[in-house]
Amino acid sequence: MVTKTIQCPKCNAHFEINGNPGETKIITCINCKIKGKFSFPQKQNKIESSKSSYSIEIENLTKKFKKLTAVDDISFKVKKGEIYGLLGPNGAGKTTSIKAILGLIIKNSGSIKINGHDITKNPIKSRKNIGYLPEQFTFYDNLTPLQTLNFFSELMGYDKFKNESLLKEVGLDDVIKKKVGTFSKEMVQLLGIAQVMIGDPSIYILDEPMAGLDARWVKIISDKIKMLNKRGATILFSSHILSEVENICDKVAIINQGKLIVEDTVSNLSIYLKLKPQLKITIENLNGKVPEIIKNIEGIESIESKENTLFITCEPYVKSKVITTLDGAGFKIIDLITIQPSLEEAFIKMISRDEGDTEQ
Ligand code: ADP
Ligand code: MG
Repeated sequence: MVTKTIQCPKCNAHFEINGNPGETKIITCINCKIKGKFSFPQKQNKIESSKSSYSIEIENLTKKFKKLTAVDDISFKVKKGEIYGLLGPNGAGKTTSIKAILGLIIKNSGSIKINGHDITKNPIKSRKNIGYLPEQFTFYDNLTPLQTLNFFSELMGYDKFKNESLLKEVGLDDVIKKKVGTFSKEMVQLLGIAQVMIGDPSIYILDEPMAGLDARWVKIISDKIKMLNKRGATILFSSHILSEVENICDKVAIINQGKLIVEDTVSNLSIYLKLKPQLKITIENLNGKVPEIIKNIEGIESIESKENTLFITCEPYVKSKVITTLDGAGFKIIDLITIQPSLEEAFIKMISRDEGDTEQ
């Protein structure tokens, strides 16, 4: 039982009422006797959980398909208003995780909360306000994009929604009268994004929204994702290409073989990916040899020699030592550049190293 002090909306008198959390009571003002309805708030912990600062909270999620553990004890949280990238090679468990988040497949263990609502205990509330773009989807070929959006918005209970402006926002307004069957795969992707915008969801879950698109279209789709985020939406999207997430994500989780390898900001990924620069040194008359004098310098990971060029992967602090050692030993350095490895290369290296580890 809880006691609440309320104010009469008619005469402004204050008085106390008693009731249980969640209970709705007809009450009579002690002063002017007007009657009205009052609903006691739900239990405190329920209120707090729905005010969670996280849109998505995954704890120890595991999903098995018979003997295969597709998602293996994964935990991560997506803050409200964040763009979050789920990055991993094909077969890593991205789609399975997404489907588990949406309740489209039944998890074996772990907990998933959306906007503070547990998806198992509160499936309806948790799924409200989510725009989901699956990895593979199709539309009816014989409908125009507007008819398509009208069809889906009617299914969702909206009378037409603001579908013409959605088409404009994604850049399909000039093909509004064409049939979807004549669309390129990129245009279909844009229509998919317009479709998930119906109802103005606060969370977008997009499974590989840029897969198979060329760089120009990756930029177009990235810009649309940024646009949705600028309006306040939280975005969780998956990709198997690091450069797709690198430029727009606040945070990234790398998953491989069902396991979460690292979760951090994009700028911190370089630390985990152990990026090391490569020195490219051209030396007169090197002729494919590796000078003995530099072989044992601490901090060098690998040395390759090709004709008159040395390729040395090393810790950044070793660069000057390599050069002074070669110079001091009489090698004539003709040219010198440092190649910074891309995150993409390091990511590919990391996931292939992980695959190697499990095979041992
Ligand atoms: P990703 O989306 O990262 O490419 P998935 O989540 O689709 O990876 O798949 C993860 C693993 O689970 C893969 O080995 C895949 O073959 C397997 N898998 C996915 N769905 C099923 C299913 N319905 N039945 C059996 N195995 C599945
Ligand atoms: Mg997938």
